[in-house]
Amino acid sequence: MAALDLGGETPSVADRGVWLACIECGETHAPFDDVIYRCPDCDGLLEARYDEYPTFEDFEGRGVWRYADSLPFPEGVSIEEGDTPLYSVPGIEAAVDVESVRVKHEGANPTGAFKDRGMTVGVRVAQELGVGRLACASTGNTSAALACYGARADLDVLVLLPAGKVAAGKVAQASLHGAKILEVDGNFDACLDIVAELATRGDAYLLNSINPFRLEGQKTIGLEILEAHREEHGEWPDRVVLPVGNAGNTAALYKCFRELVAAGEMREDEMPALTGVQAAGAAPMVEAVREGRDEVRRWDEVETIATAIRIGMPVNAPKALPGIRATGGTAVAVEDEEITQAQRDLARDGVGVEPASAASVAGLRKLVDDGEIESDERVVCLTTGHLLKDPDAAAAAGSEPIPVPNDVDGVLDAI
Ligand SMILES: *Cc1c(COP(=O)(O)O)cnc(C)c1O
Ligand SMILES: [Zn+2]
Repeated sequence: MAALDLGGETPSVADRGVWLACIECGETHAPFDDVIYRCPDCDGLLEARYDEYPTFEDFEGRGVWRYADSLPFPEGVSIEEGDTPLYSVPGIEAAVDVESVRVKHEGANPTGAFKDRGMTVGVRVAQELGVGRLACASTGNTSAALACYGARADLDVLVLLPAGKVAAGKVAQASLHGAKILEVDGNFDACLDIVAELATRGDAYLLNSINPFRLEGQKTIGLEILEAHREEHGEWPDRVVLPVGNAGNTAALYKCFRELVAAGEMREDEMPALTGVQAAGAAPMVEAVREGRDEVRRWDEVETIATAIRIGMPVNAPKALPGIRATGGTAVAVEDEEITQAQRDLARDGVGVEPASAASVAGLRKLVDDGEIESDERVVCLTTGHLLKDPDAAAAAGSEPIPVPNDVDGVLDAI
């Protein structure tokens, strides 16, 4: 099984206390000498490791870089990402039979999605490696964040998008921040295959979530949730429910918990249950969890209104599946109508999210209805992106404007 143990000696390849380890064969690799995305020995996924794991006492400041002691560098290419709100949602809490529900809204990041947390670290690593061009395949938000952080670092950015399947706000962001945008006649997984090949040939530095340093930045979602939840409730949440596309966040949260266990901050049996939600039309992780398999079967045909998670082959599954199992979590699929209803419900509580984000709340509701989540649980739902990312979906989920004549009587008649 996966080599996910964080203990052990610092290997000679370590640089400033940081190295990369293969989660399959355990081999260690220098972090900033050559550009590698997978284990050169066995093709396994890589994970960043440190000679020391910090406790909450060690953190100071705000945002992602508050957690610098758990990141590969003391600072990065920053646009003040992170430090997002943990909202109460009174309407949803009243309607769902659990002890408490909080919503961690990642739409409050600079580009409106959590991807910024990964990019502030990943682009810093790109500078260390001295690469000239950054690239990603994207369902939209990764391209927006990479374009923004690449612009800030003054590096060229190339993005490959599935033609016709990216929400309007996201393409607009990538475009205005100055990325070169290529629309591929294929789905996200096809885009990733191509850009991974370009990266292997040395034509670009890949900043998809296969890049282990991006997940280091995304770990801070977990640190913020834990700190804020403990401050409010005096304890960690029992469960974190999140949308799953490439399963980068699921992997990053599990790493966050493992590091806190290694630091002596958290007991292993206190790790919040990682609970992944996918759209029914793109649910390979749910299939693997339900069937108890260690490997995910690639879905070639995927479809859902939640375009950010319209993914048939979650690249981080080998890191995420052990996390779901070890924390006593699960995975569930929700229909597009359930996602849209959850998007409306969040909006009624004042939280505006894009469809993929609402999947977390839709999944919570389904698991409570199915009796898989108990009524005494404290739950945090992750909402990954802002409502304005996908204005078409938001307008379709909301109500139609009513046309009125240009006079007061006409307006009075209509209200
Ligand atoms: C990228 C993204 C996801 C998927 O996250 P993974 O870490 O790949 O599982 C979900 N929601 C939104 C809005 C995203 O941008
Ligand atoms: Zn290996």
